[in-house]
Amino acid sequence: MNNRPQRKKPDSFSHKWNSRDDEKWMERALVAAMDAATRGEVPVGAVLIQDKRLIAEGSNSPIGMNDPTAHAEIVVIRNAATILNNYRLAGTTLYVTLEPCVMCVGAMIHARIDRLVYGAADPKSGAVSSLYTIAGDGLLNHNMEISGLVLEHKCALVLKNFFAERRNNLKQLKKEKI
Ligand SMILES: [Zn+2]
Repeated sequence: MNNRPQRKKPDSFSHKWNSRDDEKWMERALVAAMDAATRGEVPVGAVLIQDKRLIAEGSNSPIGMNDPTAHAEIVVIRNAATILNNYRLAGTTLYVTLEPCVMCVGAMIHARIDRLVYGAADPKSGAVSSLYTIAGDGLLNHNMEISGLVLEHKCALVLKNFFAERRNNLKQLKKEKI
């Protein structure tokens, strides 16, 4: 007999958003993503908002920080927790340009973040709706309100351009060696 809890589509998940604020803050997260690109990091950016105020920003930095956990979401959570002087971030919304991975969703749950808004879907490692549904499947004791695919195309394009440029640079390097 299979006693494993059954996964269900998260009730709190929505592909709809109405708020102009969501687009505004996602644009801000995109600026953080571009900052990561200038440092040669995969361009993912995040911001944390409380009471319509920007509390902290973060961009993907695992290479520069020699830290495999330094995803944009972890960086912004650490920055915000320091600024708010609290290990819980209740009453906050986290905006991130790419669907979070398992680690980052886990960190958001530990931080008790109220709402997650993400941009592009990540079919390879997304843990919100693509590959897993950890954030809102009701199996853990904290569920977030989730809005996905906010400025999806813009967020995906930043990543696409980054990888295209990196491939071109590699090709150029190979040519120069010949
Ligand atoms: Zn992550």
